[in-house]
Amino acid sequence: MQRVLITGAAGFLGSHLCDRFIREGFQVDAMDNLITGDLKNINHLMDHEHFTFHNHDVSEHIELEGALDHILHFASPASPIDYLRIPIQTLKVGSLGIHNCLGLAKHKGARVTIASTSEIYGDPEVHPQHEEYFGNVNTIGPRGVYDEAKRFQESMTMAYHRYHGVETRIVRIFNTYGPRMRLNDGRVLPAFIGQALRGEDLTIFGTGSQTRSFCYVDDLVEGIFRLHFSDETRPVNIGNPDEITISQFAEEIISLTGTDQKVVYRDLPENDPKKRQPDIARAREVLGWEPQVDRSEGLKRTYAYFLTLTEEELYKSEHKDFEAYSKN
Ligand code: UDP
Repeated sequence: MQRVLITGAAGFLGSHLCDRFIREGFQVDAMDNLITGDLKNINHLMDHEHFTFHNHDVSEHIELEGALDHILHFASPASPIDYLRIPIQTLKVGSLGIHNCLGLAKHKGARVTIASTSEIYGDPEVHPQHEEYFGNVNTIGPRGVYDEAKRFQESMTMAYHRYHGVETRIVRIFNTYGPRMRLNDGRVLPAFIGQALRGEDLTIFGTGSQTRSFCYVDDLVEGIFRLHFSDETRPVNIGNPDEITISQFAEEIISLTGTDQKVVYRDLPENDPKKRQPDIARAREVLGWEPQVDRSEGLKRTYAYFLTLTEEELYKSEHKDFEAYSKN
């Protein structure tokens, strides 16, 4: 039986990867320090005979006994509010954390996939973003702690690949949504749905003309799975190229939830990318992958999840951070 270590396992993406690898018959070692992850996301796996949870911060040395075949490094804060709240941890997990994972991979002879991000393209001047684009990142802006950590992570990964011959894969993840997103992490989809459910107005940052392209989590997991088991060592964009403006997105959430709230406008946060759309030609060509779930279907499934949250969860708020992030 093959064994996989998934870091960030109690997070949104990490928990879906745990499900997938368990389903595929792997022994899963799940690691998380629960700084942004939530055990609720993996509770259903805790009693599984092939699942072990380790409460550990991957920025500290990782000790695992026995053979290990695969590592998926998905531990990182991943929303702009988190970068403001825990900037040092964000930098550490992308630098010290990846160093520990790659060292472990070298020691065990394991293959590693690292979670990179469209944020490495910054506020892009090339549209859509293909993998050869170097990006436009402000190192000292509020997003810099995430963007630069992820850029460093890619460099470190390629160094271990070239110098130590470690089997590495790099997935550049574009905006992804689905069940288990944190309701109050400040990202646009949970923000809008949470507001609709609480009967609040939907907050559009800036004019709402900025664009994003949203990928449903099952599609993303399929892309990551294929990449991990492929021979592709160059970075691969995984995302859904279906691009919309944030204003259009707000309209879709209003009709999905049937809320009679309106939209209100707030300042655009510093360095908020004006547009984002993945060029997925490489993923199509080398993985035979493209998204299957369109936004209307994905949003329905995601909304069904948010409807299962308790009142307490719905009102548990990180709004102080939210206020700091986009001032009126
Ligand atoms: N956004 C918004 N209202 C919110 C939260 C986010 O208009 O309540 C905007 C945000 O400014 C950005 C887009 O939605 O332009 C996507 O934001 P998110 O934080 O989800 O992802 P990222 O900016 O990292 O792509």
